[in-house]
Amino acid sequence: MAQLDIFDTPDVPVRLPVTHAPECPPHVHVERIILTRGSRDSPERRAFIRHICGGLPGVPVEERLDTPHNQIDLRVRGAVPLQAAGKRTLVFGVLKNAVRFSQESGNTCPNYWHFSLYGHCPYGCSYCYLAGTQGVWFSPTVKIYVNLPEIIARMDRIANELTRPVSFYHGKLQDPLALDPLTGYSSVLIPFFARHRYARHVQLTKSASVERLLDLEHGGHTILSWSLNPPAIARRFESTVPSVEMRLRAMEQCAAAGYPVRAVVMPIVPVDDWPDVYAAFLRHLVERVPLQRLTLGGICSYTHALHLTRQRLGDDNVVSRHLAPGSSGDDGRARYEPGLRVRIYNHLIDAARAVRPDLPVALCLEERGVWRQVHAHRPLGPCNCIL
Ligand code: SF4
Repeated sequence: MAQLDIFDTPDVPVRLPVTHAPECPPHVHVERIILTRGSRDSPERRAFIRHICGGLPGVPVEERLDTPHNQIDLRVRGAVPLQAAGKRTLVFGVLKNAVRFSQESGNTCPNYWHFSLYGHCPYGCSYCYLAGTQGVWFSPTVKIYVNLPEIIARMDRIANELTRPVSFYHGKLQDPLALDPLTGYSSVLIPFFARHRYARHVQLTKSASVERLLDLEHGGHTILSWSLNPPAIARRFESTVPSVEMRLRAMEQCAAAGYPVRAVVMPIVPVDDWPDVYAAFLRHLVERVPLQRLTLGGICSYTHALHLTRQRLGDDNVVSRHLAPGSSGDDGRARYEPGLRVRIYNHLIDAARAVRPDLPVALCLEERGVWRQVHAHRPLGPCNCIL
């Protein structure tokens, strides 16, 4: 148990939450729970896991206490069935290196602090980039890391060395809110950032489970971002994800509770009528939600993720069809061809700024040439992961 000076009272401990009533969110389906190395190493961790399992009655629990959380062999053949089985398997584990500084190069992204209280994501998007990442490809289970107090202590130490507010991003390697109705982690995390002098929290989610967040003291230090696509696109490419309408309502509720709210429209899928579909959606979004920032992006994925997308959607699908031939940029990611990206960004920025001329807009994971072409006529700002 970590003792931190985060609440201006040095002896207040950060603890795993066990006073909430854990519930399985409606879009999450857990068929199996596995306890891995370190997850039962203290009375506090055992009590927390018992508490969470109380919200998943009837789900069998297995112990594999010699196995690290990222080496669970589900004994399922085929990439798509393995991913599906992983999303129904909830793993409790310990992530030692949970707070990291990103290592981006070869695109316009800055580097930034990010952290992980979860691994992977219980939702099922056919374009998912995360499914192809190294940590997920071989063991695509959904993880809850139980060393929350140590992870917060690490962020506290890093932030105390800073001389200005800096973001800690949650959402790079997981959905950071999807399992909150089970874990209650937000009730620890958001007050930590609220009272911290320099640490700020940016999270990106597709969850609509915001009930717990609405009454928390956040001090404007937690920025909530939602990943969105037009409803017609979401119905085609996002399965077992809260509907776009549910996410929009969650955004409205959080904005009303005083949280800074952002939107990330990504990946934009170039369906035949994309100019109309996306422009109409952006107008609706910007009219409805008081956005602090809008970030746009296309597909930018590595080989494994694209392979999964082709397996799910067929070889000639609308995502793969538009990838630039030969197709990896300086950062190794495949993207749509540059001319199409510039046309998409110009059209959608104009649509959003027709409603809100002052709206800050950013591009996610773009290459310098495309970023400069767009920025020359439509000024761009900093992206979603940073302040
Ligand atoms: S919500 Fe994000 S991480 Fe989860 S399946 Fe969809 S794209 Fe992947």
